[in-house]
Amino acid sequence: MPKLNFSAGPGALPEPVLQAARDAIEEIPELGISVLGVSHRSDWFRQVVLECEQHVRALLQLPDSTHVLLLQGGSSLQFSMIPMLLLRGRKQPAEYLDTGYWSAMAIPEARHEGAVRVLWSGREKGYRRLPSDAELAFSEQASYLHYVSNETVEGLQFKRVLGHDGVPRVSDMSSDFLSGPIDVERFDLIYAHSQKNLGPAGVTLVVLKDQLLEHAPSDLPTILDYRPHAERHSIYNTPPVFAIYAVLLVLRWLRFEVGGLTEMSAINSAKAERLYRCIDADPDFYQPRAATSDRSKMNAVFNLPTPDLQERFIREAEQAGLLGLTGHRSLGGVRVSLYNGVTLEAVETLCGFMDAFRERGGLGTC
Ligand SMILES: *Cc1c(COP(=O)(O)O)cnc(C)c1O
Repeated sequence: MPKLNFSAGPGALPEPVLQAARDAIEEIPELGISVLGVSHRSDWFRQVVLECEQHVRALLQLPDSTHVLLLQGGSSLQFSMIPMLLLRGRKQPAEYLDTGYWSAMAIPEARHEGAVRVLWSGREKGYRRLPSDAELAFSEQASYLHYVSNETVEGLQFKRVLGHDGVPRVSDMSSDFLSGPIDVERFDLIYAHSQKNLGPAGVTLVVLKDQLLEHAPSDLPTILDYRPHAERHSIYNTPPVFAIYAVLLVLRWLRFEVGGLTEMSAINSAKAERLYRCIDADPDFYQPRAATSDRSKMNAVFNLPTPDLQERFIREAEQAGLLGLTGHRSLGGVRVSLYNGVTLEAVETLCGFMDAFRERGGLGTC
C-alpha cells in the first residue's frame, strides 16, 4: 500500500504535481534541460514567476493595487521584514495576538524594531483556545495589527477577520493560505511560506498593498526591503527556481483541477469533518487539545490517555503506512495535518485505522 503523508510541513503534495515535478527534473520539454539547471534570468523562468503571480491573483481576485512577491527566508524572515517596514521609526506600537507557538516566535522579532502591545495571550492556559471579540480591545492608532490565522502547532484557526479596517492588517497564513477563499481586500499584508499548502520548502508568498510601501524607511538592507523585490518581479537575486516551479504546478492544479478556492474549501471541510467525527466518537480516548469552536481545518491535535498508548499509536500508524503524525516537539501528542494535498481518501484510511485502534483500546494488533 502506498504511504500516506500527514506531515505538518513540509506537507503532502498532490500526486499530479509530484509527477510533473519528476518530469521537470528530467527535462522541461520546451527547453530540453532539467529544471534544476535553468537560469533564473531566462525568459522561461520569468514566465514561470509571472504565471504564479497570475494564478494567485485569479484565485484570490486580487485588485491591481497589490503586489504578489515570492521571497526567501521562510515565514520567519517575515517576522522581521514586517516590523522593519511598518514599525521602525514609528511612535505607535504594533499590536500582536499571542495565540500559539508561531505568534510567540513573531513577537520578539517585532520588538527589535519598536514598541509592541500584546493584546491577548493564550500562553498561560497552554494555547487551547482563541480570544473572542469581547476580549480584544484593538486600538485605532496602532502601527499595524499582526495575527496568525492558523496556529499550526496547537491546531487553532480563526474563522473571522480581526481588527479595525483603518489599521494595517497583517496575517501569517503560512498553514492555511489558499485552503479556501480569503477576504483579501481587508488584509494589507498576507504571508505564507510554501511548504505547508503551496509546494516544497524554499519560497514565501507575500501579498501586499502598494500603499504599504510608500513610507518605507530609507535604511533597510536592500534584500530585506520589499521594494526591490516588487520592482523586479521577485527576481532580485537568485530565487529558488525549482521550488517556485513546483509552486506553479500546485497553483495550476488548484485552479484548473480542483476548480478554485471555493471547491478547495469544500474538500477541506469534508476532510476535517470526517477526522473530527472520528476523534469525537470517544473524546476520552482521542482527547482533542483545542476548544471545539476554534479547531483548525488544517491541523488537528490530540492526546491519547497515556504516553504509552500514544507511542504505540504513532508506531502502529507508521507500520500501516500513515506517516507524519507526531505532534510538534513543544507539545507532544498527535497532530494530523490536512493540507490541500491530502485527499479525502487518505483521511478515510486514517480514520479507519483510528477507529480500529480505539475499538481494541490500543491493544493487540489490527
Ligand atoms: C511553519 C510556520 C512558520 C515557520 O515558517 P518557516 O518557513 O520555517 O520560517 C511560521 N508561521 C506559521 C503559522 C507556521 O505554520
